[in-house]
Amino acid sequence: MAIYLCHEQPDLYEHSANVVAHRTGAVALDRSAFHPGGGGQVGDIGTIESGGTVVVVTGIEVEPTPSGDLWWHVFSDPEAGVSFFDGDVVVRVDVEHRHRVASLHTMSHVLNAFVFEEFEGSLVTGASINGDGTGRMDFDLSAIDNDRLRALEAPVNDVIGRGLAVEAVYVSADEAASKPGLVRSLSVAPPPTPDGRLRLIDIDGLDRQACGGTHLSNTAESPPFKITKIENKGKHNRRIRFASIG
Ligand SMILES: [Zn+2]
Repeated sequence: MAIYLCHEQPDLYEHSANVVAHRTGAVALDRSAFHPGGGGQVGDIGTIESGGTVVVVTGIEVEPTPSGDLWWHVFSDPEAGVSFFDGDVVVRVDVEHRHRVASLHTMSHVLNAFVFEEFEGSLVTGASINGDGTGRMDFDLSAIDNDRLRALEAPVNDVIGRGLAVEAVYVSADEAASKPGLVRSLSVAPPPTPDGRLRLIDIDGLDRQACGGTHLSNTAESPPFKITKIENKGKHNRRIRFASIG
C-alpha cells in the first residue's frame, strides 16, 4: 500500500490542498489526511471548504491511473456542483469519527492478540470496523466453547486500563515473512509499500501485526470495550461482534 498522509501525520485533521480533478459530486485532491478505508475498516468522513462554501464528504474513492491514484472526495450530495472548487481548498477530517473508528480498530488488535494466544495461532478470516462504534471479527475457530471467547472481554478492558503505547513501525517484507504471526488475516492483509516494507502496529509488550488502518497512540484513549454477540459462521468460523461503550 501507499504510505498515506494520515500514516505519516496521524494528528493532522485540517490542511490545505489543491483540486486536481472534478466531477459532479466529487473532487480529487493532491493531498488528503482522509483515510480511504480498507481491510474492513470504514474510511474517514469530513468536509471540504472552498471560498466560504463547505461540503460534507462521506468517503474516498481511490481511482488508479497511469500517473498515480486519484483520491476522489465524495460529497454527501451526489448532485453538488463543483465549479466553485478551483485551486486551494481546506480539508477537515471529522475528529470524533476518526477517534471512534481508531479506538475500536485498536481494540480489535487487542482482541485478536488474545484470540491468537488463547487458541494457538487462529487467524482472522474477516473484519469490519464501522463508523457507529460497532464492529466484528471472524476467526478460523471450530469446536470451542463460545464462553471462552466471551471471557476475553475482561483482558481487553484490562489492556485499556494499563495504557499501553501503540505505534506504527515499518519492517521489510522479508523480515515480516520470517516471523510467523505478524500477518494474522487471511483476507485483509495489507500489501507492502512500494519500497517493499510492511507497516506493523505495535502495542507495547502485547502484540505486533501488519495493518494499514487508523489506530490510537495509547490504549488508555479507548472507551470500555464490550463483546455483544458470538455467532457460529459455518463449521470453521466464529464471528465476534463488539462495540465501544460511550
Ligand atoms: Zn489495525
